[in-house]
Amino acid sequence: MPGDDQVPDHTPLAPTLESAVRPIPELLTASARDYGHNPAIDFMGRVWRYAELELLVDRATAGLQSLGVVSGTRVGLCLPNSPYAVIFFFAILRAGGVVVNYNPLYVERELKHTIEDSGTEILVTMDLAVFYPKVAKVAAETGLRKLVVCPMAGALPWLKGLLFPLVRRRDIATVGRGEPIVRYDDLMRNDGRPAPVAIDPADVAVLQYTGGTTGIPKAAELTHANITSNCAQVIAGMGLHNLGQERVMGVLPLFHVFALTSVMILSVQTASLMILAPRFDLDDMLATIARTRPTMFPAVPTIYTVLVEAATKRKIDLTSIKLCISGGAPLPVETRQRFMALTHCELMEGYGLSETSPVVSFTPPGRPYKNGSVGVPVVGTVVEIRDRNDPTRLLPTGERGEICIRGPQVMRGYWHMPDETARVMIDGALRTGDVGYLDEDGYLFLVDRIKDLIIAGGYNIYPRVLEEALYQHPAVKDAVVIGIPDEYRGQAPKAFVTLKDGKSATPDELRDHLKSYVSKIELPKEVEIRVELPKTMIGKLSKKELVAEEEAKKALLF
Ligand code: AMP
Repeated sequence: MPGDDQVPDHTPLAPTLESAVRPIPELLTASARDYGHNPAIDFMGRVWRYAELELLVDRATAGLQSLGVVSGTRVGLCLPNSPYAVIFFFAILRAGGVVVNYNPLYVERELKHTIEDSGTEILVTMDLAVFYPKVAKVAAETGLRKLVVCPMAGALPWLKGLLFPLVRRRDIATVGRGEPIVRYDDLMRNDGRPAPVAIDPADVAVLQYTGGTTGIPKAAELTHANITSNCAQVIAGMGLHNLGQERVMGVLPLFHVFALTSVMILSVQTASLMILAPRFDLDDMLATIARTRPTMFPAVPTIYTVLVEAATKRKIDLTSIKLCISGGAPLPVETRQRFMALTHCELMEGYGLSETSPVVSFTPPGRPYKNGSVGVPVVGTVVEIRDRNDPTRLLPTGERGEICIRGPQVMRGYWHMPDETARVMIDGALRTGDVGYLDEDGYLFLVDRIKDLIIAGGYNIYPRVLEEALYQHPAVKDAVVIGIPDEYRGQAPKAFVTLKDGKSATPDELRDHLKSYVSKIELPKEVEIRVELPKTMIGKLSKKELVAEEEAKKALLF
């Protein structure tokens, strides 16, 4: 393998975890140097090779530097999966900046809050009608310094790209001129020679927004070392030995930490191909699988469930898939078994969270699988079970308590929230807000959550955010949101509301009201208006009874 004084050896399986720690952009430099001709990105049939990607990242870095990005500048990515998401992720880091991940489906309020809270100076987005007008409006209102706009047509295979503005005119937004807009082509018009910037692996690379254990939106500070360590931990657990061989399906959004590590960073580290889909569409996904024959497919349980159904019905060949990690929500046993029968691959259930970059555990191939377990901790990670009421007390094997994590992937803290950080750290370990136990073989089982969180199809919904939004409605007196069982998404939110005397509102009106506070996916499946809501002995609204009622209702149905 070619040597280079600048970049450490290209070892996918670093001999030690310490040696895997490096500034993230070096992963790309090594792959471009050693595997430049290998395909790096497939986007709707168009391919970028590693050497090409490296050149684009250099240009984007120089462009960002010309806009004033220096060490520590926060630059937001508000993009669907696309080559731009990868180019700018690496370019921001190469310029010494910090990536702030945005969900393009954020409503205006969430966008605004994230820009202000993170101190994002520059935001990179795309000219798609579904979100560009909203992003441009918020950019103007928040005084964002620059809004870099990338063209969808420019990322497509040439014929599709040529035709896109004509046939899909409705899908493209009109992009204005003048401040603060910077067009992608203008940004990239430079000599591609960015000024070198020294990056310490301990520097923050990504601000990853999460509700954490309290539901208050906050950003986990993930360092270069956190992310490169976690990627090396996953690679070691999966037993990946070969470089330049894998084709990784990227249907999960890269702005979520699971895909960030298991699709983007893992692919670049192993010089693999990442197959990016701009949104989840079943027909497109099946056609892409047939065309590209992916070997790895990280996803959330709902995706595996629909894939199994569709592949069985339409007789789609999934046998190219060798390795899969399912994360974010419990994986139904039946889905796992049916998926494995169709693919002959191991479908490993993993566990993790934004604060741990994200992977904590999964069952490595070759180790016995235990139903209901989220596997064993990845190398270099210690899972501690602590007493829920007295977290200074460590509990023995088999006992249930709060899952706490110690390892190189644990975040530095929450961005500018030292109190929130202090609340979740104990003796250097992270308190996850999840309840579980370890069995005698070291397998981790999740049994409950301390944190008030609803997971709908792998998407986190914080009841507190919905409750606060409901209280903003003039007719609402009390509001409680709980998770109810949902056939398709596992869980879905349901809101219970009482109204103020003399005021009226219908469930539909309340749902409409919520639309300006949260994204569509977070809207309650049901809103029920009641005369009274259950309270605890000290008069606090209580969820327990409502949860029990809903469970009893479900039991009657089956
Ligand atoms: P996030 O920070 O958005 O990645 O959400 C992390 C939370 O998702 C964890 O704290 C768990 O409550 C939940 N979670 C992650 N993986 C699983 C899993 N395999 N089964 C059940 N819940 C999970």
